[in-house]
Formats: sequence, C-alpha cells, structure tokens
Amino acid sequence: MRRLAFSTPPGGPDSCIFCQIVSKKSPSSVVYEDDRYIGFLDIYPFSRGHTLVCPKEHGETIWDMEEADIAQLFQVASKVSKAVVAAVGADGFRFVQNNGEAANQVVAHVHVHVIPVKMEDRGRFVERRRFTSEEMEATARAIRKELA
Ligand code: 5GP
Ligand code: ZN
Repeated sequence: MRRLAFSTPPGGPDSCIFCQIVSKKSPSSVVYEDDRYIGFLDIYPFSRGHTLVCPKEHGETIWDMEEADIAQLFQVASKVSKAVVAAVGADGFRFVQNNGEAANQVVAHVHVHVIPVKMEDRGRFVERRRFTSEEMEATARAIRKELA
C-alpha cells in the first residue's frame, strides 16, 4: 500500500493533529472518550454530527493495529453511530475509513468517519460544510447526552 508522503510526522506523534486532539493540546468537540478511544466532531463535516472515532495510540492505517483493537474500534464506532443518528435525527449513517494516499487519507492517524445521512440526501452529492463553534458544541452536547 502506498502510504502518505508525510506518513511519519517529523516531530513524532506530537506533530500529529489527532495525537494533539487526544492529548487535548488541540481543541475539538469531543463526543466520546474512554482510556483507548476517542470520538470528536469532524471540523469540516459532510453533515451535522459527522464524527471521527480514533484509537488514542498513534498508528497510520488500520494495518498498523492489532486485530482485536480493530474490532474494538468498530465496536466504539457502532456505539457512537447510534448516539449520532439519534442526536441529529438522521435516517442512516455511513462508516468511511480511508487508508493510504490513493484512498484520499489526509490525516495519518487511523480514524473511522461516522457520517449521518437523511432520506432527503439519498442519492445526492453532499458537500462538506462549516458550522459555527456554537453549533458544533451544541451538536457535540446532544451526542454526549445520547451516550450518557
Ligand atoms: P481522511 O481523508 O484522512 O479520512 O479524513 C480526515 C478528516 O479529518 C477530514 O474529514 C477532515 O475534515 C478532518 N480534520 C482534519 N483536521 C482536523 C482537525 O484539526 N480537527 C478535526 N476535528 N477534524 C479534522
Ligand atoms: Zn497521531
């Protein structure tokens, strides 16, 4: 597999944006957290509630993970998806998990996209959009409430 050109951050995990989010050195709208996984809102989402679920430990692609951890990652993503769908009143959701440059992986830290979809968007090309930080925080709060 062709990995990302900048796959190993020169400064180590400290220069990985998702490692920085894990360590809270960078802000994000966290919706889920346990000792090994974290879920937070995508900064440039395809829909309201678009969430990224990551292992806290840095690894670039799914192939860098133990199989048991991959299973756990998707268990967490599944749990998060139920809360996301309920919080935004979606009708379905997508899991997207990109590995490698050819797959358009942009951030070199394993993550599962949880993208809620509505019936009205069925078959439509949906563009990414920006939400205000207040909107992001309100969405994150609604998801956290569903998970509580
Ligand atoms: P990929 O293409 O690597 O699967 O997706 C990376 C995702 O990370 C993109 O959807 C992008 O919007 C999101 N992203 C990139 N930088 C940040 C950031 O600093 N914070 C958050 N919350 N999301 C980010
Ligand atoms: Zn990382």
